[in-house]
Amino acid sequence: MKRLSLLGSTGSIGVSCLEVIADFPERFEIVALTGANNLNLLAAQIQRFRPQVAAVLNEADARTLRQMVSGTSTEILFGMEGLMICAAHADTQMTLSAIVGAAGLVPTLAAIEAGKDVALANKETLVTAGALVMEAVARKGVRLYPVDSEHSALFQSLEGHRSRDVRRLILTASGGPFRTWSLAQMQNVTPAHALAHPNWSMGRKISIDSATMMNKGLEVIEAHWLFAVPVDRINVQIHPQSIVHSMVEYCDGAVIAQLGVPDMKTPIAYAISYPERIPLKLPPLDLCSIGSLTFEEPDLQRFPCLKLAYDAIAAGGIAPAVLNAANEIAVEAFLAGKIPFLAIPQIIEAVLDRHHPQIPVHLDDILHADRFARTEARRLIASDWAGGSKVC
Ligand code: NAD
Ligand code: MG
Repeated sequence: MKRLSLLGSTGSIGVSCLEVIADFPERFEIVALTGANNLNLLAAQIQRFRPQVAAVLNEADARTLRQMVSGTSTEILFGMEGLMICAAHADTQMTLSAIVGAAGLVPTLAAIEAGKDVALANKETLVTAGALVMEAVARKGVRLYPVDSEHSALFQSLEGHRSRDVRRLILTASGGPFRTWSLAQMQNVTPAHALAHPNWSMGRKISIDSATMMNKGLEVIEAHWLFAVPVDRINVQIHPQSIVHSMVEYCDGAVIAQLGVPDMKTPIAYAISYPERIPLKLPPLDLCSIGSLTFEEPDLQRFPCLKLAYDAIAAGGIAPAVLNAANEIAVEAFLAGKIPFLAIPQIIEAVLDRHHPQIPVHLDDILHADRFARTEARRLIASDWAGGSKVC
């Protein structure tokens, strides 16, 4: 029986994880659940999985939730303290980190510092604070199991091999809904267009990140920290079918890939049940009916976010945290109809240009960089894009 805390249980990954867990009650027990919104869903999850604790963001929601689940013995907490208690609960063996955005960093670190293994979906944890997080992982002797499908594929393709034999990591990317669109066409995309991912059903923020290809940029940084491979040996290839989830090329020319139908339950299940594989009820991969698998180079002109991410990790220090925070604010503004789609990379680049390089020594350095980038991004949006004045 594995005892789990689920951070972000009301999100796309959280719900998929609970679906896996519901099918294997003899294997998993839920100790803690957390959610920021959707109290109805969180209440239903509490009724169903009976965790010891649950947490929401604010006190008012905690009060409402307490009433909604008054028939259970679940203790309802709130705020960052509540999230950290859930992440680091004494009875938890593994914490699934599936909060979206840099908000996941502090609770994920709390889990690591408490000696918990982490199943990591929240890539922003490694993007913003990769060096500090990996240092804590090593110091605490815990393990990070990737949930991101590409990183799960790399993890599986690396197993049984020597890291010094790795020539490069090849991350695949679907290319998102605008893969074949010209820049002129992309000028008028709406949030509805951008949210309609061709292959994956995901939360709103990562769906926009997939459309700009910032998601792949964040994943390059995530792979760099997870597998200790320099970014100049991490390549991206567009693979519109999303069947090959990523590949590792070895020094003898052998390439090992992991394939499967695009469903997050596979990498989630592998992360929480490693080293075992559990029998999921998914349709089998039918390559004959798919017919062909294609690959192409990413176009950095049309998708500058990917290049911005490579530049940020090359610059190092707090640059990736600045990139990430500026991206979060730009994505939020795009979803709110305040800026056009093509303004997203412009805002991120402008904020990166304004930051003062610094090597983060403490978590506070990262949190400060995050706040700086959010403020700068909001300021730019308010001044340059107010009323849709600026043209991209
Ligand atoms: P989502 O928006 O569907 O869910 C996010 C969860 O975090 C929800 O439970 C929400 O209530 C909670 N949350 C939001 N803001 C919060 C805050 N400030 N503090 C605490 N909790 C907060 O997101 P998702 O698509 O499930 O993605 C979660 C993470 O997993 C992201 O980092 C994403 O990049 C990563 N990921 C997702 C997928 C996918 O298929 N959805 C795939 C790979 C990686
Ligand atoms: Mg991914």
